[in-house]
Amino acid sequence: MISIAFSKPKLFSRSSHSCNPLSLLIPRTMRSRINPFSCSANSHMDARNSKQVIRRFSHEAFRGVPSTGVQPPLTPSGVPTLASAPTKVKELLETVNEWHFDIFQLERVSEKRPLIWVGMAIFASFNACSLLNCDESVLRNWLSLIESNYHSNPYHNSTHAADVLQATAYFLQKPRLKAIFDPIDEVVSLIAAIIHDVDHPGRNSAFLCNTGNDLAILYNDLSVLESHHSALAFKLTVSNEKVNIFQNLSKETYKEMRRSIIDMVLATEMTKHFEHLSKFVNVFTKSVEAEEDESLEPSSPDLSAMSTPENIVLVKRILIKCADVSNPSRPLLSCKEWASRIAEEYMSQTDEEKTKGLPIVMPAFDRAKCSIPKSQMGFTDYFVNDMFDAWDAFCDVPELMDNIKMNYEYWKNQETLRQKGLEAQEGITDS
Ligand SMILES: [Zn+2]
Repeated sequence: MISIAFSKPKLFSRSSHSCNPLSLLIPRTMRSRINPFSCSANSHMDARNSKQVIRRFSHEAFRGVPSTGVQPPLTPSGVPTLASAPTKVKELLETVNEWHFDIFQLERVSEKRPLIWVGMAIFASFNACSLLNCDESVLRNWLSLIESNYHSNPYHNSTHAADVLQATAYFLQKPRLKAIFDPIDEVVSLIAAIIHDVDHPGRNSAFLCNTGNDLAILYNDLSVLESHHSALAFKLTVSNEKVNIFQNLSKETYKEMRRSIIDMVLATEMTKHFEHLSKFVNVFTKSVEAEEDESLEPSSPDLSAMSTPENIVLVKRILIKCADVSNPSRPLLSCKEWASRIAEEYMSQTDEEKTKGLPIVMPAFDRAKCSIPKSQMGFTDYFVNDMFDAWDAFCDVPELMDNIKMNYEYWKNQETLRQKGLEAQEGITDS
């Protein structure tokens, strides 16, 4: 969430939908997908060895990379296989392909390591090992290393990364994306989702700039956090063969994947939101003029135009952006939990800014007067509605659109109740 300093452009008119994409989604169950990860007899030995390698490697990899100011937990607790997952984890993963998948339940039963489980399940279903031509243990080690470099922030932690990964995988199953993406595009999207907030310090880029953090200096105050997430992820990945998921790729393929992953991670910067969205909408609609005339029927998507390499870049950006801010489109209980977590992280930043006499970059998140319902409505009005309208018209996500509407109504009612409470309190004080 960022402060709003410019007027919101009119981007898109919603089109009608004819197909039911849910019926086309993933007929197989997770149980059948887990099979490719049949457990090796010496998995415990593998885990111990990997743990040592990752511990040593992590510290080496961090040499020369500025810290975000909070020391991340560098040591993974082990690198298990899917087959050796606790029963509760396996049961939960059976619904990993569904939008109502309960990431918070997985967070609980996995002892706050949901990313490795969601990652392994989803990588298996997308045949990531064979596409990357790498051993399954390397993929596991890599997931574990990346997860251990997420901090235990209220919001920007590995549960958020797992949630964005799950949303990304859900979108990748949509027929329209299946039609225009090749398998490498899919794996690139999954990797970008996994790394997109790694080593997030629980403070935003503006805060890092205002405090003169090493990262702000290194990146000249430009896309500070996004640049760091991407750079650190590559540094961690390529410095050791036990975790290097790219090691068997040709130079050309690696170069192309690296370019695409970086582009997707950088696209998550919210200050570039309208730039990315308007490019997507302009390509997606056949006629911008027709869109601007509300008396005309919205045009249908031009799929051949979407399939050019330049336009697939635009689709990938909106894909990760929708996954990254999908909280208001989740079922109400999840939406509320995410709202509470992001508010806590932002209020904590405001606390620190006040204590240190720094500029307050998000005044709406002052503990003394913050309204979570109001912030959620503002975020949905400003960033979510237009982008999800465009995304829905492109790849048909009616379940998400329904949730956005229902959640908005919930927040609206909550805000009305809050206002009434405040007025009643004022009445008591006055009398
Ligand atoms: Zn994120």
